[in-house]
Amino acid sequence: MSNPTGVRLDQARCRSYGICVSILPDVFDLPPNAKAARLLRDEVDPGDVDDLSEAVRACPAQAITQVSGPE
Ligand code: SF4
Repeated sequence: MSNPTGVRLDQARCRSYGICVSILPDVFDLPPNAKAARLLRDEVDPGDVDDLSEAVRACPAQAITQVSGPE
């Protein structure tokens, strides 16, 4: 069985661009006036792994990390 794909978000790096939210609104959230995005979950569904990779690449602040399996 393969391990779930996890996601981490460094809120100290995040600059609230919101790109991640537009790519994966089920995973990332950016409340109004928030200084940083937050995670709604720390694992993504297998069907969302490609979108997560895109979010990692698209984040201008390099605040998103994709991790595999339990740490
Ligand atoms: S794309 Fe990056 S900088 Fe923008 S809200 Fe998401 S984590 Fe923050």
